[in-house]
Amino acid sequence: MYPIPGEAIKARGGGPVIDQGKLLDGARVAKEIKAEVAEQAAALAARGITPRLDVVLVGDDPASEVYVRSKAKTSNELGMRSETHLLPETTGQAKLEELIDRLNGDDEVDGILVQLPLPSGLSSSAILDRIDPAKDVDGFHPVNVGRLQQGRPQLVPCTPAGIMEMLAREGIDLKGKRAVVVGRSDIVGKPMAMLLLHAHATVTLCHSRTTDLPAVTREAEILIAAVGQRALIGPDFVSEGAVVVDVGMHRVTDREVVEELYPGNEKKMAAFERRGAVLCGDVDTTRVAPIAGRITPVPGGVGPLTIAMLMANTVRAAEQRRGSAG
Ligand code: NAP
Repeated sequence: MYPIPGEAIKARGGGPVIDQGKLLDGARVAKEIKAEVAEQAAALAARGITPRLDVVLVGDDPASEVYVRSKAKTSNELGMRSETHLLPETTGQAKLEELIDRLNGDDEVDGILVQLPLPSGLSSSAILDRIDPAKDVDGFHPVNVGRLQQGRPQLVPCTPAGIMEMLAREGIDLKGKRAVVVGRSDIVGKPMAMLLLHAHATVTLCHSRTTDLPAVTREAEILIAAVGQRALIGPDFVSEGAVVVDVGMHRVTDREVVEELYPGNEKKMAAFERRGAVLCGDVDTTRVAPIAGRITPVPGGVGPLTIAMLMANTVRAAEQRRGSAG
């Protein structure tokens, strides 16, 4: 398994946090990726091409609005354009398809992202299937899914692609390693398993019907938790020295739960007092971190990587589609 460098440190406010030597610093890697994207965007701009990401949001879900705003802001910061299309909750399938067709046909648009989930009554799969695969920066179109499966990826789903970048840049060798992915969604679990497989890990993909999940996950040298269940992955799920990547994202607003998840962690409690909520993942970090060899924090782990890879996919889509121009 992996060496455990560094000394255990305490949070500034006191209480246990992840040993800095164990930290898989997604936020730092995301910053690196974004700096590279900005350079690529500048190189395209020098040829008169400004990569453009169009984001479509149907309805007024406040969480989705926050995500969409942050995507537009990051695009602009990196020298790309971003247009947001806000459609009312009552938008029909035909109207939404019309917009997708228009964006597909607009040569200025490099990336199209439809914010999920769509309101009930709209078919997400029909909409995602309609996006031009060359502009499918989420990597959800069947053509991109198939290309990934065949080992000749073009646009790869952002969260698993970001995790692979982080593992590579943190020097974690995957060849021959036992990797276990918990969660088989099309967005995270399945593409994650495929990427690990192509990187020559031996991969097990778990889900809600997996029997004796802790016994399976204890086999993992690389454990990816994308379950959507708060702190499900406890210490009995993890072997000494395993690399643990926590994809989960949950907003905890109940003080008792925060105290249970982060006993004695003054920094977390202070954040809770300030904001009335803290974020936690699918992993019980407080109890798993002492066992793990390396581990991602929540927040500051996988989340920033996802948006960085969306930017990377947009600039890549622009290069691939308009590469010969200028
Ligand atoms: P999802 O579509 O709800 O899929 C969850 C998967 O976990 C399913 O395959 C489900 O199995 C499995 N599962 C649920 N309960 C389980 C259990 N008790 N034991 C074993 N497997 C179980 O979720 P997702 O979209 O992949 O997202 C997973 C988590 O990652 C969520 O917390 C989400 O918020 C977060 N997320 C974060 C980012 C980021 O940027 N940080 C990006 C995407 C998602 P079945 O298939 O059998 O139902």
